[in-house]
Amino acid sequence: MLEAVKVALDPTPAQERLLLSHAGAARFAYNAGLAHVKEMLEAREKPEWSLYALRRWWNVNKDMLAVDSDGTPWWRENSKEAYNSGLEALAAALSNWSKSRGGQRRGRRMGFPKFKSKDRTTPRFAYTTGSFGLIDRDSKALRLPRIGRVHCMENIAERVGGARVLRMTVSRRAGRWYAALTVEREDRTPTRPPKGGAVGVDLGVKSLATLSDGTTIANPHTLKANERRLKRAQRSLSRRQPGSHRRARARERVVRLHARVANQRRDTLNKLTTWLADTYSNISIEDLNVAGMVRNHRLAKAIEDASFAELRRQLEYKTMRTGARLHVIDRWHPSSKLCSNCGSVKTKLSLGERTYHCGTCGLVIDRDLNAAINIQVAGSAPETLNAHGGDGRRNDASRRATQTPVKCEPSSHASGVRLGADDRKTVLQTKTN
Ligand SMILES: [Zn+2]
Repeated sequence: MLEAVKVALDPTPAQERLLLSHAGAARFAYNAGLAHVKEMLEAREKPEWSLYALRRWWNVNKDMLAVDSDGTPWWRENSKEAYNSGLEALAAALSNWSKSRGGQRRGRRMGFPKFKSKDRTTPRFAYTTGSFGLIDRDSKALRLPRIGRVHCMENIAERVGGARVLRMTVSRRAGRWYAALTVEREDRTPTRPPKGGAVGVDLGVKSLATLSDGTTIANPHTLKANERRLKRAQRSLSRRQPGSHRRARARERVVRLHARVANQRRDTLNKLTTWLADTYSNISIEDLNVAGMVRNHRLAKAIEDASFAELRRQLEYKTMRTGARLHVIDRWHPSSKLCSNCGSVKTKLSLGERTYHCGTCGLVIDRDLNAAINIQVAGSAPETLNAHGGDGRRNDASRRATQTPVKCEPSSHASGVRLGADDRKTVLQTKTN
């Protein structure tokens, strides 16, 4: 199993200059390669854009391309891995574009690759060969060829835990450098799943999550305070003179705060999903239509905060590790409008109503708890036991038209498919017909 281990780096100012130079080298090779491919296309010649072909082209031409104004080549200043990762990204972008055009690629249409500008792209490069990665008896550092020993903010050796490091991507976000190691771990098939039984999880607006057994997980309390700070920083940014130094500094502040909020959110989610996957044997969640909901302006902020998609993604791989099963309930299941006691369905339930009052059986229950119980019940319904999602789900029109909860196990890769906007429309049409 491949895993990513990401760590914040603590480079010296001199190392930081080298990191930026390497990221610039990757961008340079990407742009040079793209210009070459465009030229070939314009000349109506068929360019070869495999990584292998691009690398060969680069090696033949680098003495002419990567040179100062006086003709001295500068490409030796950076590791060849930097140029290689730029060409690798280009080869992938071209292949995505060509496959998307030919209908062999799913999802959003991919456009033709664009040149990467210095200001607007994330500085990034990667090592795939050579002696990069962990250093013996130096657990808080990484070896970056041509740059040297770079100190890390964490004990990286412990986090890698003896796994084989295949790749190291170095990038800068919000002013900070990170290394992401792709490591290969042996598949540890868990002996027995956790003993906690079945649970339904309702991803909330008021609290981050409510479980069907009554547990609630609060939103990180630091979020509000940071949001206030972010608002203030954004206001100050909008008052600064365009192009001024103070504006650049204000922008930096906004970017840093954004990253901080995102990090806190991710941290809370990681703690929640680890605990869920370690505790319960069957976890049911709802397949929320995040793209559709974010368009609703009142909810937009709350949804972003709760990071539904991220929660699902984390649960998918963590349940695979612990042996718990993840059940994803069809998004047309009326989990919040259904009475968890008698099964009657309300026609209207506004978002402001935090308590569910059932007009039929008289049940009074917290709205999120009611939904969590319904999700748990739907996830363990026997008729859904073998209804595996997977590739069939996307094309299976009969299943799309139903409102019954569909269970799938996204722990297997293929079923992590999201229905796109077009599919959603089809569902609505089928329903009204
Ligand atoms: Zn009822």
